[in-house]
Amino acid sequence: MKEIIGISLENEMDLILAHKRTMQVGEQLGLTVATRTTLATAVSEVVRTVIDLTDNGKLSIVISGKIPRFSINANISFESDLTFRETDEGFYYAKRLLPDFHFEVNKNSYKIGMGLGLPRSLKLDEGKIGLLKVYFDTSSPLNAYEEIKNKNSQLNRLTAEQEKEIRIVRELDERKKEFISVASHELKTPITVIKAYTQMLRLLKAEYSDKVGKLVEKLETQTNKLSLLAYQLMDVSKLEHGSLQYDMAKVDLNRFLNETVSMLSNVHSHNKLDLQLGRKCVAMADPLRLEQVFTNLVGNASKYSAKGSVITIATSVSDEEDVVLIKVSDSGIGMSKDGVAKIFDKFYRMEEVASSHPGLGMGLYIASKIVSDHSGKIWVESVQDVGSTFFFTIPLISENLH
Ligand code: ADP
Repeated sequence: MKEIIGISLENEMDLILAHKRTMQVGEQLGLTVATRTTLATAVSEVVRTVIDLTDNGKLSIVISGKIPRFSINANISFESDLTFRETDEGFYYAKRLLPDFHFEVNKNSYKIGMGLGLPRSLKLDEGKIGLLKVYFDTSSPLNAYEEIKNKNSQLNRLTAEQEKEIRIVRELDERKKEFISVASHELKTPITVIKAYTQMLRLLKAEYSDKVGKLVEKLETQTNKLSLLAYQLMDVSKLEHGSLQYDMAKVDLNRFLNETVSMLSNVHSHNKLDLQLGRKCVAMADPLRLEQVFTNLVGNASKYSAKGSVITIATSVSDEEDVVLIKVSDSGIGMSKDGVAKIFDKFYRMEEVASSHPGLGMGLYIASKIVSDHSGKIWVESVQDVGSTFFFTIPLISENLH
């Protein structure tokens, strides 16, 4: 069965279309004027009845059968809460014109089929039927109404396709979020166990050689990296499902930075960390989350610059004493303008570093959320091959005012 034309039945204009198009199909098939008029009149009778009471009908002119017997059928379907009967006026006349008439009701869905056998003398075959379809698919619209109708249905098709794509993308995104959530939690337990064993190994230092000691050190460094990644993954997952939790406390920033930078100096012993503290100030912040921001910024500064280079961490309190500006500068590889615009995006990594430096592009995304959750701002200034400076602000509490 091949549909040659399909027309949605919405208003009286479609009655004209249905009639003309049915006539044309008959003409293209080579039916006599009398036969095609009978077919088109029967179709019009049913279509008129349907259009009078609903606007959701569909007419489909199809050719079915196989060599040597083919028939042409007009199938009309619609839905209506009103009750229709085979004996209603339009249907009754159509049935008289085309005795091969079917009327089917299923709850409020109606299907009407009518048709006639095509003479063998037309010498139809699959190829000719295919060409007939192409003819109607490519024929120009009968009038402005049909042109608009065609464009409309094209638009509807496109919208439906786009909606489907959006749905698929959303589903994939949900699955990805679910995967990240499960994966990060599944990783946490074995990593914690490995960490515990590594620490136990360190305590047993006296029982093994220096050579083994070096291996244990390496094991610990890599375990810490793995643990950091698992925690970052968990943070990303938390951000995707809501937000991070904070344990806010008054933080004496200079004291906090002295401690944090001293800890980070041990981790990044290949670089020199230069701490330039401004005026003493107090912020309301989650110290662990703040430490996470510094760990990321200083970690990046070290990762993306040469061994032995200096990383500067400087603070300055605003004149109004309501905010502290913190800078983390390096003289490393720097970033392109394009990179600068995107580095705070989730999973973004600059192409230049993708194969040379390990990482997953989560650190700055999380750091930027932590800063904005503290009502601060974060940004970067960078010149390629010269270096980068990350800036962020944290509001201060009035205790600073003296
Ligand atoms: P990761 O470093 O794990 O890839 P981040 O979110 O911390 O993830 O950083 C995102 C990207 O920003 C990095 O991949 C890198 O391209 C760029 N980047 C971050 N900090 C620096 C820096 N100090 N110098 C040069 N590029 C940097």
